Amino acid sequence: MHVYDVIAKKRDNIELSTEEIKFMIDGFTKGSIPDYQMASFLMAVFIRGMSDRETTDLTSCMLHSGETVDLSEIKGFKVDKHSTGGVGDTTTMVLAPLVSSCGVPVAKMSGRGLGHTGGTLDKLESFPGFKVEISKEEFISNVNKNGVAVVGQTADIAPADKKIYALRDVTATVNSIPLIAASIMSKKLAAGADGIVLDVKTGVGAFMQTFEGSLELAKKMIEIGKSHGRKMNAIISNMDEPLGYAVGNKLEVREAILTLDGKGPADLLELCLTLGSLIIVQSGKCANTDEARELMLQKIKSGEAKEKFKLLISSQYGDPSYIDNPDKLLSARHVVEIKSPESGYVKRCDALKIGKASFVLGAGRQTKEDIIDLDAGVILEKKVGDYVEKGDILARLYTNREEKISEAKSDVLNAYEFSNEKIESKLIQKIL
Ligand code: URA
Ligand code: CA
Repeated sequence: MHVYDVIAKKRDNIELSTEEIKFMIDGFTKGSIPDYQMASFLMAVFIRGMSDRETTDLTSCMLHSGETVDLSEIKGFKVDKHSTGGVGDTTTMVLAPLVSSCGVPVAKMSGRGLGHTGGTLDKLESFPGFKVEISKEEFISNVNKNGVAVVGQTADIAPADKKIYALRDVTATVNSIPLIAASIMSKKLAAGADGIVLDVKTGVGAFMQTFEGSLELAKKMIEIGKSHGRKMNAIISNMDEPLGYAVGNKLEVREAILTLDGKGPADLLELCLTLGSLIIVQSGKCANTDEARELMLQKIKSGEAKEKFKLLISSQYGDPSYIDNPDKLLSARHVVEIKSPESGYVKRCDALKIGKASFVLGAGRQTKEDIIDLDAGVILEKKVGDYVEKGDILARLYTNREEKISEAKSDVLNAYEFSNEKIESKLIQKIL
């Protein structure tokens, strides 16, 4: 078999065999296929696409390029959740304790990630002392004892994906449905859960900007998961505007605490209840999503969800006192109010522009080496559908970088558009 021939076959839109896909992925991962040939192959896949069978084969090769996690020592049906990424998305931090307080075990592997804000691991480090690097034994014993634990993804999960993603990132081949589906699902399948619930984002702040593209991605991932014997559900949710009000690490942790306490934003709560009910039904704990939703609302009201969050933090050596006093997380040196330049209904609050403002203020990282400022970010005061008078506060900036305030301020002002009529935005666009 020759690399050249496989590239030419994909270029000519002929379906590749299982062996040809395996040859490309294995060869590139171990270094016998050079970057220039893999880059050309990826571009051919980007343009020609892949059949469901090809995508499933690609996923299997990437999944078996490294370690797989065995969660069999954890009792019960294990469900993992994945979001394709957006701006201000704090769902894991709400869902892990919430679902766990309903009696469903949560063994969560999370990442740091690049982008506008950190990943779940970065956010959890807002609690002084919190350890994300616990041993596998401690992770499993915490889940069996407390019903919940969150650890960093080890370096050995799907190394092929790591190497391919780095190449896609610099060759304009990220936004390809089969490549995204295989990338996400290889890691999720390697992480060992029995069921997976996917939150596929759609809109300006998402990988897939159109509903049709997001739906196709969701269907592909469901197909891959099912063909690997997993229970699968997915939702398509709106990412034209940020989720909740807070964007930034400590700011989002505070928003998660408020949500677990029944005082959070309606959209974040709704997303968590939708995803949580799918997880709980998959686990077999409740017969239907209405029952699961009721159970979660009860656990928020009784305070058990919030107590479970404290247990998660303290069992991994973090300081849980912040959970009773979330305003301690508002620790940036500078807080700047941004006032509305006009009156009207908010028509648009562009997720990407708000994300960029947070990034500029210090909340995100562009390369793995960048250091995140956990204090930094934006808290919105107004979102799509809200009425504002000229001079009302639209948002507040939180930062320790005084010199970045004017740039972030113009990003936030650019994110907003107004109209004379009230616009409704639809958060949950489809459940699969
Ligand atoms: N997230 C991933 O893990 N991989 C992709 O290709 C896109 C988003
Ligand atoms: Ca948020």
